[in-house]
Amino acid sequence: SPPAEKYEYQAEVSRLMDLIVNSLYSNKEVFLRELISNASDALDKLRFLSVTEPELLKDAVEFDIRIQADKENGIITITDTGIGMTKQELVDCLGTIAQSGTAKFLKALKDSKDSGGDNLIGQFGVGFYSAFLVSDRVVVSTKSPKSNKQYVWEGEANASSYTIREETDPENLIPRGTRLTLYLKRDDKGFAHPERVQKLVKNYSQFVSFPIYTWQEKGYTKEVEVDEDPAEAKTDGQDEKAEKKKKTKTVVERYWDWELTNETQPIWLRSPKDVNKEEYNEFYKKTFSEYLDPLASSHFTTEGEVEFRSILFVPAIAPSGKDDIINPKTKNIRLYVKRVFISDDFDGELFPRYLSFIKGVVDSNDLPLNVSRELLQESRIVRIMRKRLVRKAFDMILGISLSENRQDYEKFWENFGKYLKMGCIEDRENHKRIAPLLRFFSSQSENEMISLDEYVENMKPDQKDIYFIAADSVTSAKNTPFLERLLEKDLEVLYFVDPIDEVAIQNLKSYKEKDFVDISKEDLDIGDKNEEKEKEVKQEFGQTCDWIKKCLGDKVANVQISNRLSSSPCVLVSGKFGWSANMERLMKAQTM
Ligand code: ADP
Ligand code: MG
Repeated sequence: SPPAEKYEYQAEVSRLMDLIVNSLYSNKEVFLRELISNASDALDKLRFLSVTEPELLKDAVEFDIRIQADKENGIITITDTGIGMTKQELVDCLGTIAQSGTAKFLKALKDSKDSGGDNLIGQFGVGFYSAFLVSDRVVVSTKSPKSNKQYVWEGEANASSYTIREETDPENLIPRGTRLTLYLKRDDKGFAHPERVQKLVKNYSQFVSFPIYTWQEKGYTKEVEVDEDPAEAKTDGQDEKAEKKKKTKTVVERYWDWELTNETQPIWLRSPKDVNKEEYNEFYKKTFSEYLDPLASSHFTTEGEVEFRSILFVPAIAPSGKDDIINPKTKNIRLYVKRVFISDDFDGELFPRYLSFIKGVVDSNDLPLNVSRELLQESRIVRIMRKRLVRKAFDMILGISLSENRQDYEKFWENFGKYLKMGCIEDRENHKRIAPLLRFFSSQSENEMISLDEYVENMKPDQKDIYFIAADSVTSAKNTPFLERLLEKDLEVLYFVDPIDEVAIQNLKSYKEKDFVDISKEDLDIGDKNEEKEKEVKQEFGQTCDWIKKCLGDKVANVQISNRLSSSPCVLVSGKFGWSANMERLMKAQTM
């Protein structure tokens, strides 16, 4: 047979392998979760590709995953009938790191101070390489239906290289897919107990939608006739009846067989009333490699014009990375068509950008299996789906805001408030849904944010508008002289301390028919005009104003008598049609 070729790992892989092999990580059993999830991905890929390339299925074998544990020798084999890997794919996939989960892990490792990475391994999963948490040696034998050759990848813990050779031994040939053989470390051989494997599969893989079989010892009882030993019968000293019974005996017949170990019905096909919160949380964490429970979930079915099922989630933490909000490259929505996984690349078609933080699965009965982005973009069905999904997402967020535990929504707002404000700018159609979800500090609530509803409830009977002041912090907002007269009259003022606040609100224009009014703008009318007095003051100070204007020249547009201050002698305001001071600050920052 052809000789094995030697390859060096990419530097990052070596580093990762080093970490894994020497880690003191205690929850090593996650290796099985990772390897099963790869097997499941491989089956998903094949099923998807075979829709347009049916010849990929020329070898008629079932789509399944089989796990065999050999406890005498400490060996576990995991076999799938998925897409397999070509020789080049072996090099690309198992010698470099381009993968999502593993890349996430390395990034988190970089950000964290804990240089060992021990407690990060379980949180992010280290993908294929987690096999080395428990193995001295890993052999991957794989055959892609794209090539007719089977290749064997072999790697050892503590080695900087791996080998690839072609498999020619007829005994080892597989029809399609991948077989992983793990030679367990001495201390980890306990994982090769069939019952332990079965337990782990049950625990970690209840959401894999392909059957997982484990190789189990089984037994059935049967009655066998036994020759009676006359001597024994006598010493027993029992009556005749008992002696007769002794002629048959129950024995347990033992044999080995594959046993279906997981439930394969996807959770979203079950009725929402039969699924509990823990199951949703587990499903979420496993599907999206998250380690925190979601803040909220929503499981629903729509019927009628367009039929689909979906489970949506609000994550507990914001995605990392700065440009996520502007240019989200998320893989947050997994699209299925009639239970076949299609892609997690269509987020932008199913949700507007500002809701890109929502995660979930969507399973449609109305789309063709060979959907493409173009098709999705033009599809009327998708337009309807999108509308419903957005509505459900808002219901879910509203649910968090109504939670008795105010902290839940505070957490949400801290993570995703910016997204909703972007929604004010980008999605006019949903202003009514977004506005009640907004939160701001105010002159009467400097430590806890309030909603617009709370503001409106707290309005004075004759107050017409919603007042706001934009500033760069709560402290500078509350020290601005513009506030003086409003505070004196006990009028509440919202503090816009996030640069995007003002733009978002300008798009909203009003809330419950109340306009948003910037208290720093000229001609602020807070309904307390006293014309007599104004006339008097104007006469008294008119010349002073002219004099000041003369002194300042072009630096100001105008100098006016105003009734908006109570203790400060003067204030600089922006013109009615000009930018607010805050906007000016923003624009300056942009052009610098
Ligand atoms: P991830 O699953 O996040 O992509 P992994 O490290 O788990 O990262 O796997 C790396 C890659 O190796 C996968 O993306 C896939 O291309 C390939 N791979 C791993 N296991 C299998 C398998 N059983 N069948 C086919 N390809 C596999
Ligand atoms: Mg993986």
